Amino acid sequence: MLAQYFEVKRAHPGSLLFYRMGDFYELFFDDAVRAAAALDIALTRRGRHAGDDIPMCGVPFHAADAYLARLIRKGFRVAICDQVEDPAEARRRGGKSVVRRAVTRVVTPGTLVEEALLDPAGHNYLAALAEARGEFGLAWADVSTGALHAQPCDSGGLGAALARVAPSELLLPERLLDAGRPAGARAAGALEDWRPVLAPLPPGRFDSANGARRLRALFGVAALEGFGGFSRAELAAAGALVDYLELTQKGRLPRLSPPRRWTAGGAVEIDAATRANLELTRTLSGERRGSLLDTIDRTVTGAGARLLASRLAAPLTDPAAIAGRLDEAAHFVGDEPLRADIRAALRRAPDLERALSRLSLERGGPRDLAAVRDGLGLTGGLRDRLALDGAAIAGPPEGVREIRDDLGYHGPLVDLLARALVDAPGPLARDGGFARAGHSPELDRQRALRDESRRLIAALQRRYAERTGIPSLKIRHNNVLGYFVETTSVHADKAMAAEGFIHRQTMASAVRFTTVELGELERDLSQAADKALALELALFAELAAAVLEEAGAIGRAASAMARLDVAAALAELAVERRYARPVVDDSLAFEIEGGRHPVVEALAEDGAAFVANDCDLAPERRLWLVTGPNMAGKSTFLRQNALIALLAQIGSYVPAEAARIGAVDRLFSRVGAADDLARGRSTFMVEMVETAAILNQATGRSLVILDEIGRGTATFDGLSIAWATLEHLHEANRCRTLFATHYHELTALSDTLPALACRAARVREWKDGIVFLHEIAPGAADRSYGVHVARLAGLPPAVVARAGEVLARLEAGGKTGAAGRLADDLPLFGAAPPSRPPRAAPAPDPGPARAAARLAELEPDAMAPREALEALYELRDLLAGEGEG
Ligand code: ADP
Ligand code: MG
Repeated sequence: MLAQYFEVKRAHPGSLLFYRMGDFYELFFDDAVRAAAALDIALTRRGRHAGDDIPMCGVPFHAADAYLARLIRKGFRVAICDQVEDPAEARRRGGKSVVRRAVTRVVTPGTLVEEALLDPAGHNYLAALAEARGEFGLAWADVSTGALHAQPCDSGGLGAALARVAPSELLLPERLLDAGRPAGARAAGALEDWRPVLAPLPPGRFDSANGARRLRALFGVAALEGFGGFSRAELAAAGALVDYLELTQKGRLPRLSPPRRWTAGGAVEIDAATRANLELTRTLSGERRGSLLDTIDRTVTGAGARLLASRLAAPLTDPAAIAGRLDEAAHFVGDEPLRADIRAALRRAPDLERALSRLSLERGGPRDLAAVRDGLGLTGGLRDRLALDGAAIAGPPEGVREIRDDLGYHGPLVDLLARALVDAPGPLARDGGFARAGHSPELDRQRALRDESRRLIAALQRRYAERTGIPSLKIRHNNVLGYFVETTSVHADKAMAAEGFIHRQTMASAVRFTTVELGELERDLSQAADKALALELALFAELAAAVLEEAGAIGRAASAMARLDVAAALAELAVERRYARPVVDDSLAFEIEGGRHPVVEALAEDGAAFVANDCDLAPERRLWLVTGPNMAGKSTFLRQNALIALLAQIGSYVPAEAARIGAVDRLFSRVGAADDLARGRSTFMVEMVETAAILNQATGRSLVILDEIGRGTATFDGLSIAWATLEHLHEANRCRTLFATHYHELTALSDTLPALACRAARVREWKDGIVFLHEIAPGAADRSYGVHVARLAGLPPAVVARAGEVLARLEAGGKTGAAGRLADDLPLFGAAPPSRPPRAAPAPDPGPARAAARLAELEPDAMAPREALEALYELRDLLAGEGEG
């Protein structure tokens, strides 16, 4: 047995081996040690190998799914090794033969289809990344729906593509993990966030010619061009992915649809940092609760929730497509009874998509057949309800008509399943009991025989009890003896003497017998039960085949229901939260009237009302510089506008009175390092790398949100970088931008940058403190609120008063001070065309260097307050260039 074990184990390195022994899956050696720790189960020993005990642990076969789920969640892969012949067969082969076993499946995070192992509301993507001729190719598939996609990317776009797909498992050639090689170095940054899901494979698996051949064979075509012009890297990735599926599923491929090419520009590009920062699907602390998705999700089915999540991951850029989706939602906004009926019906819908995929992988059971029956059973009613036009004179919009058509007609299949299956069948075909009585006369006869034998055995027990005079005599059953007569030891002598009782076993407290009669009944019973089960299994195969025959139409119906769920859910949300229908067009407009933050608003429901704010980034004032004290509402305002744009472009109503948005092609959002808690990398370097990405990538159609960048470094560095960034965004990127800053000095730029508009988060003085109004109004913030906050915080009155004086002096400098003069004197930012190499950096201004030298000389501890103040003035003048001479 060990020889067999080692052979199997060698063929599946990198996976835990679940080795079937009787009613258990057992793990040995290192596998046992790791699994026992991960599952918190007992580690024992069994036998010896090479002079040592063999560590072992095991999980019961019937409860394996739950253990598998835990192992997969902890990042393990599991090879399932089953017995593939009857043990009797092995015995026939000869005394020492071991039952034949083979791996029937490798369970990996990206290839799950079991209900128990999957999140009903989340997609589960298996992805593969390949590289060829300096280009990357990404392919991904949802094994549970069969959707297969591919996309080419450069190293800049790889991070955003991975963030959008969010794979559960990412296959890649080993060499891409080697940052010492050029391709590895270019992929390194994008792969950083995906370390836990990476599955490196030998490079031979990523061959583009093999990949193309494999795909042509799989889809039965002579050329793949019909599906789109795939790059070599894409073919290599898609080929490796299909290869991996075949390998892990042991030849049973899921029902994959032909690869669809992800069209660049079809979806808003959103990089990983932006997704995290805007808390689209998870909050910065990693929870789903409190994310945008969680706040807007009103779907009632798993498939609907998954569709909404994937729409949010990839908002559209085509205004016509967006309008189409908005029409779908609008149809249900306008018709409350329709919406209620549809949602009530969908609430009862099982997960048709996933049931179908299990059946096509031969891993389905009677419960999946019932899901098909019940899911398809709803289509007729839904179709009829959608056909009834309430108010709409023009009829339902095109999208809803499409949904209606895709729901399809499934009467015969539903009837067949309804006749053949009991109402609530169990999950496993091998347990039987799922066929409805009356469907198959032969099955009914065998079941009757089986039940009759059971009754006869019960009658036999009564007869034996009377005959022997042992009222407590029982007929029992176990796997070793089969049926047997049992009495307590007290009555052993009586039973031994009974006619026809053949002694089988003496236990501590009981004695067991068989009889000829009992043996005959048992044979009848097990024959009938075997026949009944065989008939049921044949019926199952027949029904599964009937379902798979219709797989295409069932898949369409399932996705139509998901679309319907999303449309009705978005309508529900719009009505419930008073959202407005946005207009998305080809302009560069960004006009939000009375915008609100969808998540903050929802959370603030019970307390104070959320203050709505307008935003208008028309081309002539496309860059808003938002100032204001801490807690005034700057970050909230920035984010809400980004979220409104995203919601509009997935085809949702938006939290505003009105909104008109020129379709955004890329969205960027960054927060100054000090705020960037979630990534835990509060280094200035990261902030700069991310800012660089924006300046290099933002186009005239992009929307950029920058929240207090430059905070992660010394004031002057930070101010200078923020300054230059603003100029670049204004002159070179020319994108719509919201820029929150605590560098008040930046407001001076409004004189030289015509499209820059100053806005301030307003606060009001109230008694001795300040009140945050959360209003974003024209102008720059008064900078004295820091002093107010200092008073609130209990600084001694003398200090507060003195700070006020200092501030007044600084402000008198104001426009004539350092920053003001900078704005006047510095030649306007010269935007280099992106292709040209950057100009030589200008010689450093001697001011900062001299100021730094002077600063280094100071001994703050030895200075009187007055001296310190003078030093401060001196430093400021040095920096403003006044210290010259
Ligand atoms: P800042 O970025 O200016 O420091 P935040 O945007 O973080 O301020 O907002 C501070 C707090 O004020 C948040 O906790 C938020 O709940 C609340 N807030 C912000 N904007 C509004 C608003 N428009 N209406 C009501 N409360 C708001
Ligand atoms: Mg903030």
